[in-house]
Amino acid sequence: MVNSCAVLHSCLERIERLNSKINAFVHFEKENPLGQKGTRPIAIKDNISVKDELTTCASKILEGYRPPYDATVIKKLKEKGYILMGKTNMDEFAFGSSCETSCYGPVRNPWDLKRIPGGSSGGSAAAVAADLVPMALGSDTGGSIRQPAALSGVVGMKPTYGRVSRYGLIAFASSLDQIGPITSNVADCAELLGVISGYDGLDSTSADIPVPDYTKALVKNIKGMKIGVPKEYFPEDGLDKDVKEALLEAKNIFKGLEASLVEISLPHTKYAVSCYYIIAPAEASSNLARYDGVQYGLREEAVRMVDMYAKTRTAGFGEEAKRRILLGTYALSSGYYEAYYLKAMRVRTMIKNDFSEAFKSCDVILTPTSPTPAFKIGERADDPLKMYLSDIFTIPANLAGIPGISIPCGFSGNNLPIGLQLLGKPFEEETLIRLAYAFEQNTEFHKRKPNL
Ligand code: GLN
Repeated sequence: MVNSCAVLHSCLERIERLNSKINAFVHFEKENPLGQKGTRPIAIKDNISVKDELTTCASKILEGYRPPYDATVIKKLKEKGYILMGKTNMDEFAFGSSCETSCYGPVRNPWDLKRIPGGSSGGSAAAVAADLVPMALGSDTGGSIRQPAALSGVVGMKPTYGRVSRYGLIAFASSLDQIGPITSNVADCAELLGVISGYDGLDSTSADIPVPDYTKALVKNIKGMKIGVPKEYFPEDGLDKDVKEALLEAKNIFKGLEASLVEISLPHTKYAVSCYYIIAPAEASSNLARYDGVQYGLREEAVRMVDMYAKTRTAGFGEEAKRRILLGTYALSSGYYEAYYLKAMRVRTMIKNDFSEAFKSCDVILTPTSPTPAFKIGERADDPLKMYLSDIFTIPANLAGIPGISIPCGFSGNNLPIGLQLLGKPFEEETLIRLAYAFEQNTEFHKRKPNL
């Protein structure tokens, strides 16, 4: 059987012509897209398990690994007639905001090939931005769907924690990770979210809450809806001038659509990044303990077993992964556990409470997705702190477990996409879709395409 779907053929033609420039896809695999049934081409981030297909988290340590089973989201996609086009590049184990830590080399932003596409789901975002595929799956632990969506000029949603099964997602920080859609428009995001959402007995943190028909939220009327604007997300310093202007204009567009804007405060925002960089590496260091040369991927032989572990892990993990393992192990070690990890858990609760309090006076919260547009490849690579601050506006939603969407809302002076973020109450993805759709349908930003 050869699939004759026209969209599929156009995707294959573009991948063939453009992937070498962008480096968005890293594996095209055993199951040829032309041989698959279905009509909806989709790309999959390389940390989501697809049975018998290479799934490496862009890490040398998972070299050659082929999962013996499908992630729940993949099972659902296959049942619904999606065509799996291949695996997309990412930061190693999803540690990063730029896609520079991949063992396959950096992904390039389709809007400017000298720049990063954002990360860690940068391969998925770049593939959608360059029209190699209409949609993709990413994962978001601290912003990895929303930030690359913003920097690449596409739509990206992190669902509520528990909305989408994590079964088969290779774990980074299990209390923060969520799989979500990256698409070229809001309607596709609504459709894809509906397909991948729902309770799954194979993920103990999956929520047994009915999945609404998200496409019903694709309405243009948002009259009377209350949009909270947190002052902590619009600081005097640290927000790029073009981002600031685009957000100001976005507020006016929402006002023009008769939504009302209310000022709110999320007072513990300033602790979010520090809190995240205790909790996320702590969980990561424990999740990464399983890569020991015995069960998966790479193995560096040695006479003694402990030496084999050490040699394998030294050769297999990149620098950022090692940094996270060290940070996390330190934070969890005896004597420091109370001082760091427990304190961070308390701060996490305070951040969550900030949102619950704020949502008493608004339906959604509007913020920039990223403080700056895409930066140059190499610009922040040697400065981990600067890199970590790229996610200052996206991290709080992961800590609180609430949903967030990023949609295009403007361009910088040098033609780089800018995104706005809407955050919602738990399990109210519909409200985000409704506002995002109304904004999109009344603006032209999503229609502009990179010149490749
Ligand atoms: N950039 C953040 C980090 O490096 C978030 C990554 C993610 O969401 N996977 O941890």
